[in-house]
Amino acid sequence: MTSQIWQPPDIGSICPEQNAQLTQCSETGFMFLALLARLFGGSKDSRVPFNPYPKPYPSDYYSSPLKHIGPDHHGVGPSLDFDAPVDHRIQAHSFGPKGSHGFSDASLFLKPSLTSVFENEPPKFQSSFFDGRLDFFDADAADTKKVTVTAKPEAGTAKAEAGDKKKSKRRKKRHATEVYDFIVVGAGSAGCVIANRLSEVKKWRVLLLEAGPEEPDVTSVPALAPVLGSSNIDWMYRTQPEELTCRAHRGQTCPWFSGRVMGGSSSINYLVYMRGNKRDYDDWAALGNYGWSYDDVLPYFKKSENNQDIEAKDEIYHGVDGPLTVERFGYLDKNVAMLVQAFHETGLPLVDFNGEQQIGTMTVQATSKDGIRVSTNSAFIRPVRKKRPNLFIRTNAQVTKVLIHPYEKIAYGVKYVKNGIWHEVHAVKEVILSSGALNSPKLLMLSGIGPAETLHELRIPVLKNLKVGYNLQDHTTTEAMLMGLTNKTSTLINSNQLINEVKKYYSSKHSEGPLSATGPLYVTAFVRTPFADEDETVPDIQYHFDGRNLKEFYSDPTTYLATRTLPLSYYDSINVRPILLLPKSRGYLTLNKTDPVFGQPLIYSRFFTDKRDVDTLVAALNMIQVLEKTKAFRENGVEFIREPVEACMNYEWGTYDYFFCILRSYTATIFHPSGTCRMGPPSDEDAVVNPRLKVYGIRHLRVADASIMPNIVRGNTNAPIIMIGEKISDMIKEDWDHYL
Ligand SMILES: Cc1cc2nc3c(=O)[nH]c(=O)nc-3n(C[C@H](O)[C@H](O)[C@H](O)COP(=O)(O)OP(=O)(O)OC[C@H]3O[C@@H](n4cnc5c(N)ncnc54)[C@H](O)[C@@H]3O)c2cc1C
Repeated sequence: MTSQIWQPPDIGSICPEQNAQLTQCSETGFMFLALLARLFGGSKDSRVPFNPYPKPYPSDYYSSPLKHIGPDHHGVGPSLDFDAPVDHRIQAHSFGPKGSHGFSDASLFLKPSLTSVFENEPPKFQSSFFDGRLDFFDADAADTKKVTVTAKPEAGTAKAEAGDKKKSKRRKKRHATEVYDFIVVGAGSAGCVIANRLSEVKKWRVLLLEAGPEEPDVTSVPALAPVLGSSNIDWMYRTQPEELTCRAHRGQTCPWFSGRVMGGSSSINYLVYMRGNKRDYDDWAALGNYGWSYDDVLPYFKKSENNQDIEAKDEIYHGVDGPLTVERFGYLDKNVAMLVQAFHETGLPLVDFNGEQQIGTMTVQATSKDGIRVSTNSAFIRPVRKKRPNLFIRTNAQVTKVLIHPYEKIAYGVKYVKNGIWHEVHAVKEVILSSGALNSPKLLMLSGIGPAETLHELRIPVLKNLKVGYNLQDHTTTEAMLMGLTNKTSTLINSNQLINEVKKYYSSKHSEGPLSATGPLYVTAFVRTPFADEDETVPDIQYHFDGRNLKEFYSDPTTYLATRTLPLSYYDSINVRPILLLPKSRGYLTLNKTDPVFGQPLIYSRFFTDKRDVDTLVAALNMIQVLEKTKAFRENGVEFIREPVEACMNYEWGTYDYFFCILRSYTATIFHPSGTCRMGPPSDEDAVVNPRLKVYGIRHLRVADASIMPNIVRGNTNAPIIMIGEKISDMIKEDWDHYL
């Protein structure tokens, strides 16, 4: 039995706000969470010994081109003003539109719970005040777990002298900064791929740093995806309050889940494997991003893929030799078949979304194998981490700054904190940021790369003035468009059954049954509204579906949404989510001035600020009602619930104003933040990285993750980011002449 890594979401603090009895807030709900923690809270990665190979060579092993920087490199590069007063705001209650009450903007400044992600002991610091001041701390010495006390030999004796020599040798070794060829920051969708591919080169030493813990077993159960957001493997970021978004959510802000764990968001996502539209990549190339057209990127999608479905026969579009298994679930929910059939009746073809044509419907290909999630950790890291002596992995290691030589503008390492201890590690070749679209821009800004104005305000010396944090995009939708099921198709189960299903799944040899799939999320459709692009191969809306408990949602939507933890498999109604595929509105994120290092970045989504986005979504909400006329729906008695939901009572259901109200009140994203370190050619004033993903103006530093997308792709983002990881790995190998 390993120690419990995973801690469930803390809904205990929200449940007292419920206006109606919600199952997740009942005894059953809490029992369910406790059971999950007990059965699935450990990690199979902790059950195997860690890298059995010796530590990397100390810095003097290399003849580093950066040696002249200084003896210990401390104090080089920008640092924050640690003397500035720290304003720790306190939580304050706020009341929003009808039914919406909770914690408002003050709570947004709260740090993500650090204690929960530190494996061994709580951190020894409370604020960024200590950044840099703990440099004197001997990290390796402090890391030593066991201290043994032996009798001291008498001073002056030969034994004592020998001992002194040994000690000073050891001390020297301890003080030597660790040096790698590459440091990858963030073990998410892109980072795990990059660490794997770079460590294929035996002579390269690769360090992968991840802020979160090992991937707990709970992530492997597909239907448990809702319980992962807001748990200790999520960054727990939320949007800032805005006029047009999230009005009926707690504190008028939306959660923006993002994995803080080995595998990153690929470990907490909903397993949909989707590549987007060919046009997405051709448009990137047309913007001047040479090498990123669809024809250029297709081989990289195929390279990682191990497709086990019928689509694998299409060799033009699919690969079967990669580490990432893509496979449909073995369990088919009856409503999934009904939805596919209904869409098909309306004239949509059954398609391979990742093949020739995207517009159509089908069950989704999933990043799963035998009913178990395949994250980038399980696909790209787990199989090699014990086998490659040149791959080093540190979990619970949060990077706080990229070390950059201030005059030469060369990145040479990073600073990170683990178990409350500060460390500095160096890279002789490159530092690669793969921390995701919310954290890579944050790290760049903390390192002196970003909008000069923002950095000046925080007294961070500006190394390069770039539009970091801008161009923020996501796929928006609403939580409040429900269709009701009859007893015939409802899959709702009672409390005892729920607990038994979990136990059954746990003790069965094969992962099967409702928990081994994602309920109605297993089906999707891509369509065109009247606002779509002239190019008829391009959709502007994707429909996703999410199971609900109808009565409980309608009785208290705000608390229901904030405490959603139950499996995807059991429901008596379905929320239709029309996803806006190519939003025109753009948001931004910036550093939290109260606590820039450990505080969450301030995220201004600015969804719906371009009215065309609202028009398209309203059109999609109208279009979907056609399903009611299909034989599949009629035979099963499925109908839309035409009753206004709490925050939109003042509008008539089905009108433009009603739909706009549910969009701005019950706003949702499907957690695909992108674009915040935009890729573009030198002529692009908004670009942060060039088409080889090198940060403009800084050598030896790249960003490779969701943040480089100039425009978000028309589809779910995990597969495209894995592709980005594959492609950049090859570019790096080219740039360091590995192929010569
Ligand atoms: C709830 C949810 C559901 C989703 N569903 C789907 C889906 O079904 N299909 C799909 O295609 N996409 C889905 N997505 C989106 C997709 O998973 C993400 O777009 C993708 O995983 C992002 O990849 P990334 O490499 O950019 O970032 P991430 O995968 O988020 O990786 C970033 C990593 O960097 C680490 N990190 C950040 N800062 C630091 C630091 N300072 N120091 C050290 N480490 C750091 C993080 O902890 C994380 O592990 C979903 C996302 C979420 C959150």
